Amino acid sequence: MKMQINEEELKKKLTPEQYHILREKGTEAPGTSPLLHEKGKAKFSCAVCGTRLFSSDAKFESGTGWPSFDQALPGAVEFHEDNTYGMSRTEVTCATCGSHLGHVFNDGPESTGKRYCINGACLLMQKES
Ligand SMILES: [Zn+2]
Repeated sequence: MKMQINEEELKKKLTPEQYHILREKGTEAPGTSPLLHEKGKAKFSCAVCGTRLFSSDAKFESGTGWPSFDQALPGAVEFHEDNTYGMSRTEVTCATCGSHLGHVFNDGPESTGKRYCINGACLLMQKES
């Protein structure tokens, strides 16, 4: 059972771009996320429900223009087959609220072999010292 979302309340909380990406499966323009060049220790949470999704330990520079991670925190995300736009991809959503986050690919350069290509607009960052 997913968390119930009040879409009208959420529209007030998020920017129109965030809402579009998270709730209407949009994609942010590559290279626009301030999280791209973030190198410090941090946790990244769902912008809708606040559940922790990724750790900076898993973050790497993929060169794609989207924040990239080699793994999600255990149980934090769910996977869905996505055949839109003539491509066969795996969509990644927040396991708690079902919001769209991005896609995962099997061409990751790190030990897991995964590349989570995540819209920075979907994430809230909490820095850790
Ligand atoms: Zn969420």
